[in-house]
Amino acid sequence: MSLKFTVGDLTIHRVIEQETTFLPATDMFPSLSGERLAENRAWMKAARALDDSDTLILCFQSYIIRTPHHTIMVDSCIGNDKPRPTRPKWNMKTDDTYMRALKAAGFSVADIDFVMCTHLHVDHVGWNTRLENGRWVPTFPKARYVFAKSEFDYWSEQNAKAEVPPIADSVLPVVEAGRAEVVKDDFAIGDHARIVPTPGHTPGHVAFAFGKGKDDAVFSGDLMHSPLQALFPDLSPKFDVDPVQSAKTRRSFLERYCGSNTICCTAHFPSPSSGRIRRRGTGFTCVAI
Ligand SMILES: [Zn+2]
Repeated sequence: MSLKFTVGDLTIHRVIEQETTFLPATDMFPSLSGERLAENRAWMKAARALDDSDTLILCFQSYIIRTPHHTIMVDSCIGNDKPRPTRPKWNMKTDDTYMRALKAAGFSVADIDFVMCTHLHVDHVGWNTRLENGRWVPTFPKARYVFAKSEFDYWSEQNAKAEVPPIADSVLPVVEAGRAEVVKDDFAIGDHARIVPTPGHTPGHVAFAFGKGKDDAVFSGDLMHSPLQALFPDLSPKFDVDPVQSAKTRRSFLERYCGSNTICCTAHFPSPSSGRIRRRGTGFTCVAI
């Protein structure tokens, strides 16, 4: 299982934009002790989730799910031409990696029926828009863009106080173009896609469950970033708006899917990024299939 796999009547593609070092593990997880890191260094390195200098390795990707009726993207990754001065690897980049990966998976931008964002952070909304004649326009011209209402309301309020660049350049232009659907938690696409509220990382963070009559796959967004958090669900990254809530959400999500056949498709675990949740020690592990 790598860039394409099937489960039930779904075909799932991964479109990778970057798989690279991110932050030192102890910087990302303020409660991670040196001792706990040392105990877990070997398996984390073997999983290519940690480099030789204890920096976490993350994958940045979109998922595209083909149901019998629709082609649906979950999270639109980093994007091009966007001012992100605090992230040199993302800032004003112009590479064609993402668009080449989309094409290699067999899709054009016009093939996407829905773009669903687990939350509105910079690395999940980037390709919502692209720069055309100096204006931000929806990258996927036929897509309806699905944003959870509580998430959209939270960031709209933040952006009104002080501009939040990914909201201004990757979310609001979609709204202005009339392509956004701001939805409540009972939103579904046919029989095949549903919302699983998973607050904590951001106030309106959601996961998406896919599959007819059962959850064949679930897209967990940023309710966890690293396999280390599956094993230790109490580890909340410094980015979590509510680290106590996110730890609770993480454990209950992992508990819900533990032992099931559902394939958990994470946003940021290193490749293959997806697998089935199984118990390990006092926590969990995501077992690649
Ligand atoms: Zn993310």
